[in-house]
Amino acid sequence: MNIRTDLLLPATRAFLQRPKRMLIGGQWVAAADGAVFVSEDPATESPLAEVPAGKSADIDAAVQAARHAFAQGPWAAMRPSDRERLLLRLADLVEANADELAQIEALDNGKPASMARAVDVATAASFLRYMGGWATKLHGESLDVSVPLVREREFVTFTRQEAVGVVGAIIPWNFPLLMAAWKLGPALASGCTVVLKPAEETPLSALRLGELIVEAGYPAGVVNIVTGGGADCGAALVAHPDVDKVTFTGSTEVGKRVGTAAMQRLARVTLELGGKSPVIMLDDMSPEAAAAGAAQAIFFNQGQVCTAGSRLYLPRRHFDATVEALAGIANGFRLGAGIEPDTTMGPLVSARQRQRVAGYVQAGVEDGATLVCGGPADTSRGHFFRPTVLAGAPDSASVVQEEIFGPVVVALPYDEIDEVVGRANGTPFGLAASVWSNDLSRVHRLVPRIKAGTVWVNCHNLLDNAMPFGGFKQSGIGREMGRAVFEHYTETKSVMIAV
Ligand code: NAD
Ligand code: MN
Repeated sequence: MNIRTDLLLPATRAFLQRPKRMLIGGQWVAAADGAVFVSEDPATESPLAEVPAGKSADIDAAVQAARHAFAQGPWAAMRPSDRERLLLRLADLVEANADELAQIEALDNGKPASMARAVDVATAASFLRYMGGWATKLHGESLDVSVPLVREREFVTFTRQEAVGVVGAIIPWNFPLLMAAWKLGPALASGCTVVLKPAEETPLSALRLGELIVEAGYPAGVVNIVTGGGADCGAALVAHPDVDKVTFTGSTEVGKRVGTAAMQRLARVTLELGGKSPVIMLDDMSPEAAAAGAAQAIFFNQGQVCTAGSRLYLPRRHFDATVEALAGIANGFRLGAGIEPDTTMGPLVSARQRQRVAGYVQAGVEDGATLVCGGPADTSRGHFFRPTVLAGAPDSASVVQEEIFGPVVVALPYDEIDEVVGRANGTPFGLAASVWSNDLSRVHRLVPRIKAGTVWVNCHNLLDNAMPFGGFKQSGIGREMGRAVFEHYTETKSVMIAV
């Protein structure tokens, strides 16, 4: 199977043919040492592009450019409304190039282009626009102070929310363009400058976004994009002494390392990490409705979603019927390359990820789970993995405890609500959960007991620009989106004037 180039837009083809460079200080540059790596199409295992393999010298140049842009020049002189206008322009450009961006994402990541268009690209544009609105609405407070020690003076006291400075942003491969927007939006709205490092599996949409950032008219150095690996390029960004704030989305394992390195110099740090989100069906849900909800929770984006509903808790009396209905939905997906129009599930992002997911499924079966359907797909090329349903593993099994990050759900029966609450909370993660029922009282009693940053009721995986997103426990530190994100992109300065 080769890449179906006949399905590509002329703009996508032209982008693939342009040489790939990093954006540093407004210039498109190769890595200082000339090194490159190949980004592949996970559906065909064909090379898509050679991309610069940035390392610490490139990170250093990018951080210097970001510092310069932050401290002096046109960006530092811009008013909030100028920053708003630039973000709105960038959102318009993302929208104007949406079909091309969706194809780039489908090729580089594997996901269906229709989904990339409707979710990744549309949401990225809408998020940049939402963040543009915040640029003019961030403000401090005026305070009426008492100062008991000095009664003979009066004081004018207020706080300012000042941009934290140079932001180092490291993003994963599951929603490459959207994760770039999640980092750039609040940074640019608040007046920060950025060095962005995309994942090595999916660097291409960030580079196309970089072209649009230049086209939008951002001054040189405000956004820098350095492609490269995690251990050298990413680690160099986290360790750089002139990066004021680190924002990371990815695995809990790497997130801990990133957080520890940032803490060495007390850099600001926020972490959006893994999850093992429970989906809790109450007994008023029919097996059909429960299966439809569970499928939505786990199979979206090939299951490569940090909030994926990967543990399905079912009332014992509905267990068999629901598992059967869910397997029916799972077997109905059409696996194929993301750019093919009838694909409903693409490949996993890489051979490594496919192997990881296959390893978990095998371990689950060894631990006692029943493989109801799914497993690695039997294709000669491409990292395809069939939607997989496991039934009935012990709570201690790795498939119940660890993030799989693939289209694999483990269905587990329960008898009592109190029991299921404890089991749902019984992993190191706390990113999200969903509860499904139309019994208002039971739902409202359950929601406060679930330890997760987001609890959905009768839906799953739905996010909104205005809704804070982040994790309890080992799913992260800090919140993204909404007003809440600005806590992490600004410093509060208190000003007291004796008058
Ligand atoms: P990862 O955490 O290694 O990669 C995420 C990002 O971190 C990439 O840009 C990578 O280059 C960078 N990185 C890696 N090592 C680094 C280091 N030492 N210092 C700084 N940056 C570093 O994730 P992965 O290896 O691609 O995937 C492994 C597992 O992580 C997946 O199976 C999944 O469970 C989880 N994951 C979670 C998310 C999420 O959204 N929460 C996203 C991707 C992967
Ligand atoms: Mn790729």
